[in-house]
Parts: sequence; C-alpha cells; structure tokens
Amino acid sequence: MEFDYVIIGAGSAGCVLANRLSANGRYRVLVLEAGGSDRRFWIQTPIGYGKTFFDKSVNWKYTTEVEPNLDNRRSYWPRGKVVGGSSSINAMVYIRGNHGDYEDWQALGNPGWGWRDVLPYFKKSETFANGGSDYRGDSGPLYVNDVSSQYHPLCRRFFAAAKQLGFPFNPDFNGESQEGVGYYQINTRNGRRMSAARAYLHPALKRKNCELITRAQVTRLLFDGKTASGVEFVVNGKTSRVKANCEVIVSAGAINSPQLLQLSGIGEPGLLQEFGISPLADLPGVGRNLQDHLDYSIYYRSRVPTLNNRLYPWWGKLLAGMQYVLLRNGLLSLSVNQSGGFLRSHPSRPRPNLQMYFAAITYTTSPPGERPLLQPDPYPGFLNSVGLTRPSSRGHLQIDSADPLAAVKIYPNYLSTDDDIRQMLEGARLLRQMSSTPALAEIIEQETRPGPAVQTDEEFITDIRRRADTVYHPSCTCMMGSDPKTAVVDAQCRVYGVDRLRVVDASIFPTVTSGNTNGPTIMVAEKASDMILG
Ligand SMILES: Cc1cc2nc3c(=O)[nH]c(=O)nc-3n(C[C@H](O)[C@H](O)[C@H](O)COP(=O)(O)OP(=O)(O)OC[C@H]3O[C@@H](n4cnc5c(N)ncnc54)[C@H](O)[C@@H]3O)c2cc1C
Repeated sequence: MEFDYVIIGAGSAGCVLANRLSANGRYRVLVLEAGGSDRRFWIQTPIGYGKTFFDKSVNWKYTTEVEPNLDNRRSYWPRGKVVGGSSSINAMVYIRGNHGDYEDWQALGNPGWGWRDVLPYFKKSETFANGGSDYRGDSGPLYVNDVSSQYHPLCRRFFAAAKQLGFPFNPDFNGESQEGVGYYQINTRNGRRMSAARAYLHPALKRKNCELITRAQVTRLLFDGKTASGVEFVVNGKTSRVKANCEVIVSAGAINSPQLLQLSGIGEPGLLQEFGISPLADLPGVGRNLQDHLDYSIYYRSRVPTLNNRLYPWWGKLLAGMQYVLLRNGLLSLSVNQSGGFLRSHPSRPRPNLQMYFAAITYTTSPPGERPLLQPDPYPGFLNSVGLTRPSSRGHLQIDSADPLAAVKIYPNYLSTDDDIRQMLEGARLLRQMSSTPALAEIIEQETRPGPAVQTDEEFITDIRRRADTVYHPSCTCMMGSDPKTAVVDAQCRVYGVDRLRVVDASIFPTVTSGNTNGPTIMVAEKASDMILG
C-alpha cells in the first residue's frame, strides 16, 4: 500500500488535513483511525454527549495517575476513539481563545502564529450563523451556530448578576474581544452535531484520492534512516504497513501523539531504553508541558424552575425527545453549556484569567458507573463554575510499556503552583460574590455544594482540591517551539531531528488557549495544511 500523505487519527485535526490535502486532487491521502464509524445516533444528536462520555465503543476512557494536589483523586479523561475524534463526543462549545494567546505562541519562538496570522484560518474554517465580518467567516466547512434564542431564561439572571458586579455583556466571544459574559456558540447544524468529520472528512471521502481505514490503530512509525517512510498499523489483530511518499502526519491527539512518537524512538532516550526502544531522535519534550483546564463548580437549589424540572421526569424527557424528532430543536439539540464568560479575577490581570460556565441544570460528571452524566437532580437547581484560562501548572505523560496497545501514564500535576491556587481561590470567591448579587440571591433557595460551611481561604482550597476536575482540554504535549531541548516540533509542525514527519493536533499548542480547544485545533490544522501544500 502506498499513499502520498498518511494521516494518523481522524480527529479534529486529522479531518481538516484529509480534506485540505486531498482538495487539489494531486495527492493520494490515507487516514488511519483507531476507532469506528461516527454514524451513530448518540454522536449525531447533541445531547448524546451524556451517553458517549462513558461509552468504550467510541471513547479511550483514560484515567490519570493519582493526583496529590487533588486530594489523591484520579481524574477521568474521555477522548474520542471514533471518526471525528474528540469532536464527535465533545460538548460542542466553540471558542477561539484570546487574541493574546496567539501573541504568546509567537513570542515563544513560533513566527507566523500571532493573532493576525491565525485569524484568516479561523475565518476560513467556519460558517458563522450570524454571517461574516472582519472577525467571522461565512463560507468555511465548520458551521458555528447561534442557538441563544433557545437557551434557558435563567442565563439572563447570570448576565444581570455579572452586570451588578461590573462585568459587561459580550455578544460574541469570538469577535473583536473575548472579555465579558454571554452565550456560548456551538458546533451544530439543523439540530445535529457538527463534528470535524461532518464538516471536513465526509465531504473529502467523496473524492477518489482520499481514503479512510477505520479500526486501524497505528502501532509504529517507520523510518528510512531518519526519514519517515510510512507506518505500521493493526486491524482486527492483523498487522499491515503503508508507505508515505511525501509525509507522515501524526494527528492522534494530545495523549496518543506523544505516545506514538515515544513508541517509535522519538523522546527522552533514557525513558525509551527502559522499555527496550532504540532512540532515533533525542527529544526530551515529548509528553512534557502537559496543560489542561480544571474547573470548580458551586451548586444551588433554586426557587424557580430550571432545566432539572424538564429533564428529570420521564415525561419531560419524552417531550424533549418528541420535539427533537419532529422539529430537530429543543433540549436534545443543545449543549449543556449555554452561557458563561471570560473575566478578570482582579483588574490588575492583563486579560481574562477565568472562564465561567453557568448552567441552568445540576448534574455531576461523577466517575464512571456512579450515575448517568446528564441525569439531573430531582429538584430545581443550577450551577456556576470557574476555571483558569492559562494555568501555570505543567504535567506530563509517558509510555508505561513497549506495547502500543497499552495506555500511557498521565500525571496532570494540576494546581501545582501557588499562582494557580491563588487564582482558583479568586475565582471561587467571585462565584460567591455573584450568588450574593440581588439578581441571583432572590432565586437561590440554598447553596447545596460546597454549602455555607466553606468560608475561609483554607476551606475553599480544601474544597477545590476535593472537587475541581478537568474540562477535557489536555494539550501541549508535543509543544511547538524553537528549542528542541523543550519543543517537539518547529513552527511548521515538523518534528525535530527527523525528516518528513509532522505532528498536527492539540498536542502542538505551546500553551493551552483561553477557552475550549476544538476551534483552535481546527485552526492549527487549517494553517498546517497550507504549510504542507506550500
Ligand atoms: C468530553 C469532552 C468534551 C469537550 N468539550 C469541548 C467543547 O465543548 N468545546 C471545545 O472546543 N472542545 C471540547 N473538548 C476538547 C476538544 O474536543 C479537543 O481539544 C479536540 O477535539 C482535540 O483534537 P485533536 O485533533 O487534537 O484530537 P482528537 O480529536 O482526540 O483526535 C485524535 C484521533 O486520533 C485517533 N487515534 C489516536 N491514536 C491513534 C492511533 N495510534 N492510530 C490511529 N488513530 C489514533 C483517535 O481515536 C482520535 O480519533 C472536549 C473534549 C472532550 C473529550
């Protein structure tokens, strides 16, 4: 088997690459995806997020090592193992990040990645429901929807509370400025999930020069000396090889991309030798620099009806189901995250350091098996949550075996800096301040978690360590940068020390973006496609 480009992983980035690299018809493109088809009801239906979250038939279901800074808990990390990757199982919130994030990327040794450089790729990727502008695109493959007219009226209470504290309403987090509170835009169209596969891959597969093999897990990259020449993969226990005449592109995501590099001899030599792998390129940065967003929620019992009243009773679910089947709208067509904001915990912060999610529902992301993700509480309730947009804590992950089918060990190292703890505390205090504004206080019957017993800084920090958890944005584990002592790829996404090998996905972010990571990953793949073709 022989192709020009072999792309590993049909996730957010891989789907974009498959489309763009096959568009001119000159190159034969193969995508190898470890998971199966995305033609499943609970993937297409937005609220199916609650079902796929724990479903091993579409999900890698990773668990981190014990995290001392989180009260010795392990964190559950879902990741899409299906066509579309994590964009097929995510919560669909579309956020580009803060303009300053990309200035940071550039300043970290990545020329061409400043905000003005990346904006055209954000625009190219999207069709925004409210039309194009200086900031928004109107003819790209990825539909970005504005479904705010369907959101719960309680969101407006949240905006009023924010206003009472001096935080402005922002009609578009993805426009001129990210700061303020507002509605989240989501990746859906006509009531169905708009994954990267729906936007990019399925149309590309209509071309003769673009092929996809599903349930094909790549186990090793193949080299001719130091030049990537192809890959080895397993389908149903049978090992095959494919040759790449131009390049191999690793888009296996922030956990599996560094794993595959290490398995193939690219990483810290000592670690590789421990598992009997001969080092090919000495890149100690592989698997390091791991960043993620951690989130802390306060739960309330409400005096007014919330989504719990509609989604807890069986007849409420039935009505929502009927509305969805007949009209393709309503609760089943939405994300759980309807509103939120990007705020500064203190005016001295140069840009928003907190992201908030306000949800007119109370549910838990409890460990697998405890209760269904989206089964709300039996009484009216809502939650408000906060996380740091740019945490300074850094974790790492690494192979634990030479077996390519074994999972890596993940050490997130959350809340390991004083500054992160201080900012989280400021965020928690801000949630409390919001709940005491007249707009919210008059509808709160009771704070159910953590409850009034938590008051001092110490008590808050203890509670944060006990309850804060990931919002599923692991990234930065094959960092892009100028120094191969820390970075894995250069500003063209080429892996240092070898030829014809790139990594293109959320693992190459130098720093995690301020917000949700799917949109930025798609932008990265759009830009990388141009570099590869250029
Ligand atoms: C539960 C959840 C909720 C989220 N919510 C949001 C949200 O609301 N908004 C947002 O912007 N972001 C969200 N994210 C994050 C976002 O979806 C990811 O950051 C983004 O999809 C990452 O894209 P990627 O291309 O780096 O990796 P992925 O999309 O994960 O793709 C990697 C692909 O590679 C495949 N693969 C891995 N290893 C191999 C191998 N060895 N051989 C072959 N194939 C392989 C995987 O199966 C997968 O399909 C969420 C993520 C999750 C898991």
